[in-house]
Amino acid sequence: MTLVACSVTVDRPDLVSPALDRALNAKADGADLVEWRIDLLAMLPDASGAIQRLLRDSPLPTILTIRSESEGGAFDGSPIEAARVLAAAIACGAPPHFVDVEASLLRDRRASDVVHAALAALEESQRPSLVVSLHDLAGRPKALWSELERMWSDPACHVAKVAWTARTLRDNLEAFEVLGSRQGPTIALCMGEQGVLSRVMGAKFGAFLTFARLDDEEGTAPGQPTVRELVDRYRIKAITHHTRVYGVVGWPVSHSRGPIVHNAWFDQLGLDARYLALPMGPTWESFKASLAELVEHPVLGLAGVSVTLPHKEHLVRFVQERGGALDDASLAIGAANTLVIDPVSRALRACNTDALAGIESLAEALGRASDDLRGLRVAILGAGGVARAMAWACANAGAHVVVINRTHERAVALAATLDGRSGERGPMRVEVGEGASIRCGCFHAFINATPMGMQDGPAPDESPIPDEVALDGVIVMDTVYVPERTPLVQQATSRGARVVTGSGMFLRQAALQCELWTGTRPSTISVQES
Ligand code: NAP
Repeated sequence: MTLVACSVTVDRPDLVSPALDRALNAKADGADLVEWRIDLLAMLPDASGAIQRLLRDSPLPTILTIRSESEGGAFDGSPIEAARVLAAAIACGAPPHFVDVEASLLRDRRASDVVHAALAALEESQRPSLVVSLHDLAGRPKALWSELERMWSDPACHVAKVAWTARTLRDNLEAFEVLGSRQGPTIALCMGEQGVLSRVMGAKFGAFLTFARLDDEEGTAPGQPTVRELVDRYRIKAITHHTRVYGVVGWPVSHSRGPIVHNAWFDQLGLDARYLALPMGPTWESFKASLAELVEHPVLGLAGVSVTLPHKEHLVRFVQERGGALDDASLAIGAANTLVIDPVSRALRACNTDALAGIESLAEALGRASDDLRGLRVAILGAGGVARAMAWACANAGAHVVVINRTHERAVALAATLDGRSGERGPMRVEVGEGASIRCGCFHAFINATPMGMQDGPAPDESPIPDEVALDGVIVMDTVYVPERTPLVQQATSRGARVVTGSGMFLRQAALQCELWTGTRPSTISVQES
């Protein structure tokens, strides 16, 4: 089982007591170890008492670490200075359980001798284990494998640790290769947003431990999850060699609620599966290269992904190029948000659960079956991906759709691709509306498919529907789901509309994805309440 070490930085002696409190919190959250990062403390002349207290009073087994500036820390002394502080800590009467020693320190003969002499002076049962480490903030270390060979062949090295900043998701796969080739306890992880996969799924490949931070702290390395995220959300201690991997692909993707929602469902359904954010650069080339490597990886066990902006159209192209299948909605819309990978044949299928989730949410509010919206006029505001999905879904179910968009030509193009095509209820009717047509009083439903009202979006305080439009008794659906009560939702609620929020649609599209992957549609209520 992979251990969870919570990194706690202690810069000054007066910060020892709060640091010990944080270690207690880490223990309560489920950490197995605390890593005392004493980069700055180690540079003070009178720090030995503080370091001794950290080791003696720690509520968790300890790793003592002095990270040098050249490897991403704050210690700017020489190797021999670092070695003397570590040696004093080893000899202090309450030695740490592990001492992190940079490989470069061990290459300095004098520094190495100081550390080894301190270790040799202790009884074997008292002696800390050495974690020999190598960090590269710029990217994959050039001499990665030769450094590892040296660590693995050094009898004094109990745990080999390599960490580097991931440039793409593919770096994580090399970290897994390191773990798969290990010749002793090994930590291989990638830093940065692109490296979270290695921090969690390293457990599948036998990582000795992974580092985490406390909820309210920045952490000692970019991309570090919190202890609670590792223990509760990702259930890291139950990850096995067989754990299936799912994730959300997008750029940016760190804000996605997908990992919270899907991991909670996997847990409820008793599935040995985990779901992670999988950031992939915005171009087709980076999407294609990264996704191909993940899909084809022989051991990772990628079983499906959610796909969000800007890759929904790329997913359709990816699956078509590989001879996979598209569901009706993806084919008609030209964009998909779900990749299903057959666990046996590895065949690919792209599906669009946005369209089905949107139409189900709308139909429920209307009291209608989701495949029969005949007789209804629906105004769709926007002409992007979600507008296209909703226009197709509504028109396919027989509604008369009017597309209204800031850039009129895009609305014209959208209507032209759908109008007159055969749908389940006869030829689809999709026309273009001018801005003024929103006031005609002739719509049964309005659907906001723009980012207006979205937190951190282009117009977070604005509603796409002008105040003078009568909303009494009509359905107003917002696809924006952060925040839940958007300006449009507030405006529509106060003016007598029946309101459908974006979070309902979000949860439905996610539940439909879960069903496609696992065969079981989870309850959206349990997640809404959590
Ligand atoms: P998209 O492809 O980028 O399209 C955005 C559309 O909104 C375009 O038609 C654009 O007009 C218009 N627009 C953008 N900023 C605007 C502004 N300030 N004023 C007026 N119109 C504006 O985006 P998308 O993928 O369709 O996503 C749209 C929204 O759907 C997102 O913001 C997201 O919150 C929501 N969404 C919800 C779910 C869910 O499950 N609930 C799922 C996916 C997306 P132009 O053509 O003039 O550029």
